[in-house]
Amino acid sequence: MKKISILGSTGSIGTQTLDIVTSHPDNFQVVGLATGTNITLLARQIAQFKPEIVAICDETKVNDLKSLLTGIEHQPIILAGEEGIIEVARYGDSESVVTGIVGCAGLLPTIAAIKAGKDIALANKETLIAGGPVVLPLVQKHGVKLLPADSEHSAIFQCLQGVPSNGLRRIILTASGGSFRDLPVEKLNTVTVADALKHPNWSMGKKITIDSATLMNKGLEVIEAHYLFGLDYDRIDIVIHPQSIIHSLIELEDTSVLAQLGWPDMRLPLLYALSWPDRIHTDWPSLDLVKAGDLTFREPDHHKYPCMGLAYSAGIAGGAMPAVLNAANEEAVALFLSEKIGFLDIPRLIEITCDRFSSHNTSTPTLEDIIEADRWAREEVRNQMLLAR
Ligand code: MG
Repeated sequence: MKKISILGSTGSIGTQTLDIVTSHPDNFQVVGLATGTNITLLARQIAQFKPEIVAICDETKVNDLKSLLTGIEHQPIILAGEEGIIEVARYGDSESVVTGIVGCAGLLPTIAAIKAGKDIALANKETLIAGGPVVLPLVQKHGVKLLPADSEHSAIFQCLQGVPSNGLRRIILTASGGSFRDLPVEKLNTVTVADALKHPNWSMGKKITIDSATLMNKGLEVIEAHYLFGLDYDRIDIVIHPQSIIHSLIELEDTSVLAQLGWPDMRLPLLYALSWPDRIHTDWPSLDLVKAGDLTFREPDHHKYPCMGLAYSAGIAGGAMPAVLNAANEEAVALFLSEKIGFLDIPRLIEITCDRFSSHNTSTPTLEDIIEADRWAREEVRNQMLLAR
């Protein structure tokens, strides 16, 4: 029985993790749950999973949550605000913390969990992308495991089991191509939020679905792969694979290529991040290669999708630049989702922001430097948006 806590319990990652707990009650037990604002779902989760502690980021909703819990026998400790989320992350005897909070908001709770000696099931890639220079030394120092729950990185991690540390030559990340993979580049300036949210293969949250449509998601995953697996950027490639059956590949020094395959289902990488190194039996449908049919591959189009190039450049620049890229992207995507900017403004705003930051970057940023870079980049994106009007 493994004890786990979940940050972002009412989001896409959180609910899928709790599905796993429901179907494997002998393997997992929930210690803590934290979420942003959705108290209705949190109250149901409390009744079903009986956590010892919960936190809600929106402090104004604590009393509403308490009234939803009247009559429920199990009463957990209830905390609020960012401090509350951090407390859930480090609380009690949970062994593993699933970080499903969207965006850079996951950074401080993840650091708290690492300092408390907990393994991290990393479903929030922004934590590592923005905080890599600070998070990785802490992971070393506290001897915890950073287990990828992103499907591509889980695939690479699975392929790497048993590969000697000097055996890896290259990582090949597969990308579905997102909502606009079959749309000509000229049409991208008129696409709507609703168009962008129609992902062909994966069911995910809004922010990451937009990131898939711009291919920034893949760019961010390149940086995530660099930090997780220690390869230089010229050894991390992207290939478009519309069927999302191959979740990523590695090439070894002798040119042998290993791949991990499966139906597109986020629960599998989540389960492996929690069960590693064990394999737990599931009743999920087996992969049927004949049903999957043709597996095809295409070169990524850097002209159509400039976000990939922006991410490689930010990754190579290093220091706090990935934090700036990530914050600028989060802000631009939020502006797009609220219909304040167009789809093509997303890469434009990110590029301006990264350019303006480059003379201020430092190679070994502190946590404070990263938080400040994140704040600066968000403000810069909003200023640039107003300037463009
Ligand atoms: Mg992914």
